[in-house]
Amino acid sequence: MSNSSSSQGHDSSSHRWNHLKKVLERPGPFCHPEFECSPETLNFLMSSCKILVVGAGGLGCELLKNLAMMGFKHIHVIDMDTIDLSNLNRQFLFRQKDIGSSKAEVAAKFINARVPGCNVVPHFCKIQDFDSDFYRQFHIVVCGLDSIIARRWINGMLVSLLSYDDNEELDPSSIIPMIDGGTEGFKGSARVILPGMSACVDCTLDLYPPQVVYPLCTIASTPRLPEHCIEYVKVIQWPKENPFDASIDGDDPTHLNWIFEKASERATQYGILGVTYRLVQGVVKNIIPAVASTNAVVAAACATEVFKMATSCCKPLNNFMIFNDIDGIYTYLYEAEKNENCLACKPSSIPKYLKLTSNEMKLQELIQLLMDSPTFRMKNPGLAVNIEGKNRTLYMSTVPSIEVKTRENLKKKLSELDIHDGTKIMIADATTPNTIEIVLSIPTFMEMSNE
Ligand SMILES: [Zn+2]
Repeated sequence: MSNSSSSQGHDSSSHRWNHLKKVLERPGPFCHPEFECSPETLNFLMSSCKILVVGAGGLGCELLKNLAMMGFKHIHVIDMDTIDLSNLNRQFLFRQKDIGSSKAEVAAKFINARVPGCNVVPHFCKIQDFDSDFYRQFHIVVCGLDSIIARRWINGMLVSLLSYDDNEELDPSSIIPMIDGGTEGFKGSARVILPGMSACVDCTLDLYPPQVVYPLCTIASTPRLPEHCIEYVKVIQWPKENPFDASIDGDDPTHLNWIFEKASERATQYGILGVTYRLVQGVVKNIIPAVASTNAVVAAACATEVFKMATSCCKPLNNFMIFNDIDGIYTYLYEAEKNENCLACKPSSIPKYLKLTSNEMKLQELIQLLMDSPTFRMKNPGLAVNIEGKNRTLYMSTVPSIEVKTRENLKKKLSELDIHDGTKIMIADATTPNTIEIVLSIPTFMEMSNE
């Protein structure tokens, strides 16, 4: 049986890969200028090239299928989520019996059983559970994520793997390309990031709009939209009445029904129309409807970029593709530019400055600035200073014992905390695996009065 056709099917010399060989073993007018056609390329793709797929959801399922069928055999997939009933319409590697199981594990098992020779290794955990040694082993990272924070974290990780020589020259062998796909309903994007070389996720933060949050005063006193009524029940009425002695479970129909009833009452009171059970579900779970075909298109573009990157057969996407199929089909390609002041990809040897108007500002206000400012967009920044060689934590919300000890500092002015022009602060945040060092630039009183 050793010569059976099925075992030959795994072999790179079989007919199975003829279509790939046409692209990889022949020169052509659309090839990358430095491309050298050779059977070695397919061999590399199948036997050595290691790909990390981040996310095993709508995009992740498509990516795994595409990559496996393109001949990639060494694929890792990481996802912390479990399978939900609502995933099954488009996350086609999952079945009813898989509900509640790990997305990464079920997806890997499916691909490995279906595509002979492919070895997908699942990781049922958070991206933050791995350190740089894990990420360094991959040739290419491809992301199918729905979270900007997670994207920024992966981006920060890949940037931190870059090495520079004494002349600030980037070592090209330390670059791990990141292909990033994203979809939202009928809109999608695919981009290619060469960390340290081209625009990174943080270079173009302004492209990611902040999540819609309704001002509390609107929700509480002047509701105008059905969403305001639902949000009111979710944020104010639920904690007050605590109907089921539990926090809201967006998958529990009794919870959703309660919110639906109360939100309907409130809507009637204000003459607002449009509160439906589906909308309640959407607002409570923060759901943006997913469109299977958008996922398929974006994942196909991303997988193609992985293939191009792995084989150098064609020039990669340069570097940002927008896709929209809400009204016909529209795509647009442009070159996102590197931001020279990007906090994520500017080499750490070059200091970064943050201009403040005065050190009479309170620490709380500085933290708020880091969260609101379009260049930082941080989530829960923890701050420390290094004064006279000693590190001192100013505030940290993520570790409860430290939060309690440092809470008092929030109300203090920067001057009271011994922070002046030129003080270096170190910031840790969920948006990056790295500590960011920033030098504060604060005009002194003398400079102010001279102006
Ligand atoms: Zn950048």
